[in-house]
Amino acid sequence: AKANGRNNYQFYLPEMNSQASSLLNLERLLHQAIEREEFIIYYQPQVNIKTGKITGMEALVRWQQPELGLVPPEQFIPIAEENGLIVNISEWVLRNACAQNKAWQDAGFSGLRMGINLSPRQFQEPHLVQLVADILAETGLAPEFLELEITESTVMQNVEFAKTMLHILEEMGVHISMDDFGTGYSSLSYLKKFPFHTLKIDQSFVRELKDNLQDMAIISAIIALGRSLNLRIIAEGVETNEQLELLRRLDCEQIQGYFFSRPLTVENATKFMQEYWAQSWN
Ligand code: C2E
Ligand code: CA
Ligand code: CA
Ligand code: CA
Repeated sequence: AKANGRNNYQFYLPEMNSQASSLLNLERLLHQAIEREEFIIYYQPQVNIKTGKITGMEALVRWQQPELGLVPPEQFIPIAEENGLIVNISEWVLRNACAQNKAWQDAGFSGLRMGINLSPRQFQEPHLVQLVADILAETGLAPEFLELEITESTVMQNVEFAKTMLHILEEMGVHISMDDFGTGYSSLSYLKKFPFHTLKIDQSFVRELKDNLQDMAIISAIIALGRSLNLRIIAEGVETNEQLELLRRLDCEQIQGYFFSRPLTVENATKFMQEYWAQSWN
């Protein structure tokens, strides 16, 4: 029994250690990631299904860690939020994605919008407004082609501060989008408080659209609401033709999802636009 107990002990302890150390390890590696240029931005197209045009891209960051491979944002963003590194990462994403959009616009893809995700921590930085202004000046991107995506939890932590920040950004001409709409508790009251241009219907409503009449009713209500408030509405997470057709019937104009395209590297996103825009002109 004694030997057994010891074996158990030895079995569990290293297991726990390795979990703890792998989190620490991830955090340690994250500290070096920016200067080692390990981040990469993927771009996912947003399409207006009425006009057949690509209206924008969402910038989605990935971490290409030499030993671990491609680390998805859901794994490292929470860590970066905790330790504050998110501020540097986000600044990097903002600068690069804005520069990329300017390059695309100069290459003829004019009118293309760039959606960039802001995290709660970043939103508490008083420097955010100045940073955005600097990056727009640096890259030469017109403010209306930058769309900052925020979720309810981003603004929830300090509603008054958030309101002030968003109004300043809005006055600068930057667009603001409410991400994951419908998943929080106070989405509706926030629509009134904050100067949003766009609503992104959360993927959870789109996912079961086929056999769920409730989701259908919710989406249809969101679209009606958004339209009456003069907002652009994007349905996220569209994966199938069936979902697309249902959304079309519900009169949803813009979609983003795997059905149309997965997030792409710069090269592939450029190719995609060349091919797609060429088609939509013919
Ligand atoms: P999000 O802002 O809601 O982004 C949409 C996520 O859904 C992306 O995951 C995208 O790849 C995925 N997606 C798009 N179309 C489909 C589809 O048809 N089906 C399914 N199943 N998924 C789809 P990703 O890139 O893994 O990003 C996850 C989250 O990480 C994002 O959710 C966002 O909250 C965060 N994130 C990504 N990049 C950044 C960033 O640069 N800064 C910050 N602060 N957060 C970021
Ligand atoms: Ca987003
Ligand atoms: Ca979303
Ligand atoms: Ca999300």
